[in-house]
Amino acid sequence: MSGHALIDGAGVGGLTAALALARAGWSVTILERSRLEKEVGAGLQISPNASAILRELDVLPRLGTAALAPRAIRIRRGRDGATIARLPLANAERRWGAPYLLAHRGDLQSALLDAVAAAPSIRIETECAFTGFAATDSGVTVAALRGAQSASFAADLLIGADGMRSLLRERLNQADAAARVARYVAWRALVKSDRLALDLRQPESTLWLGAGAHIVHYPLRGGRITNIVAIFGGAKAIEASADIWAEPGDPRRIAARFADWDGRVGALIAAAEEWRIWPLVERPPPPISSAGRVALLGDAAHPILPFLAQGAAQAIEDAAALAAFLKPGCDVAAALAAFVAARRARIERVQRESRRQGVIYHLPGPPAACRDLAIRALGEERIVARYDWLYGGRPIANASKNRWFS
Ligand SMILES: Cc1cc2nc3c(=O)[nH]c(=O)nc-3n(C[C@H](O)[C@H](O)[C@H](O)COP(=O)(O)OP(=O)(O)OC[C@H]3O[C@@H](n4cnc5c(N)ncnc54)[C@H](O)[C@@H]3O)c2cc1C
Repeated sequence: MSGHALIDGAGVGGLTAALALARAGWSVTILERSRLEKEVGAGLQISPNASAILRELDVLPRLGTAALAPRAIRIRRGRDGATIARLPLANAERRWGAPYLLAHRGDLQSALLDAVAAAPSIRIETECAFTGFAATDSGVTVAALRGAQSASFAADLLIGADGMRSLLRERLNQADAAARVARYVAWRALVKSDRLALDLRQPESTLWLGAGAHIVHYPLRGGRITNIVAIFGGAKAIEASADIWAEPGDPRRIAARFADWDGRVGALIAAAEEWRIWPLVERPPPPISSAGRVALLGDAAHPILPFLAQGAAQAIEDAAALAAFLKPGCDVAAALAAFVAARRARIERVQRESRRQGVIYHLPGPPAACRDLAIRALGEERIVARYDWLYGGRPIANASKNRWFS
């Protein structure tokens, strides 16, 4: 056994890190402030760079038929629905070494929790909120609150996987204030697919592009439900105390925003009974992502705009990379610093490309027409090839093709 790791947060990043560290010989305790209810969140696109890791950690078999492999990504013009491109995904396994999947976040979390339950060296403390830590050269002591009761935990290292509004990030970076205003807002809904016309129920991920906005929809759970995400610009204050998944959106507002788009977009929006709003934040990796025996991963370290659907995927990559560096008997502080350094270039590239993708998606008028012409001129193969660095990429440059855990 290598030692004992504490992980703050049982989101996708924290749970994957626990599994990867347990594989590397660590015993792990995860602190999670919520009760871990199953249905939290909406859909997630799990790209091959992430599904490869989940497969190796025995999570994919547990996800089973709850995950759906779309045949293609279809890009449509918002104004009239014309197909700009259809990018086939059927050969994802051959091209990138793992499948491209669509799943409900709750189903992925359940599969991760099943895998965690099967790992005797991992323990989860739910309804237990991290509040602070004290680190020395030989270990870390973590303070937490279980209801009104304080609790304390000791470990050899502490990983902050506590999401976009990470308290641990704040503790490490006192001068680096949390983001207070988002530039984009995402509206999310889940609808029963039988409320939608056949054209909107294809086993594809469909992306509608228009001036200043785009909308994505794809089927989940064997096609029984459809996940919709609409994103458009607009400053929104970030309520530090608000429940991140629960802020309701006014259906009339989103219907008005897309009123002049193709009628199928209107039908999609009208089919949703309730909308949730999510402010979108991107922050560069903070000045301090690791200090001694403490390090950050996932959204806590680097929230990413979702235009490439990579936030959870990069959290999963972080987890695999972390375990690759934390070898038995290693110098923990040096390994954590090396982990952060090894991830930086890829994270920065994903952030940069996501930002750029957002600008391209939301182009108005003539620039949008040029974009559509350019996409058509490039053709499917060359567009798909532009994602090879991402979907076929590995969490750390020197990882062997398909194995991270020995
Ligand atoms: C609209 C939208 C669409 C997206 N689509 C995709 C997609 O298709 N594919 C993709 O890969 N990514 C996508 N993402 C990004 C993805 O949702 C996030 O990047 C991902 O969930 C980050 O995972 P995480 O584990 O780092 O953080 P989180 O999922 O936020 O988990 C953090 C956990 O820490 C817990 N926690 C917080 N504070 C404390 C504390 N003090 N003590 C204990 N526990 C605590 C929380 O309760 C939570 O369980 C999307 C994001 C948005 C907004």
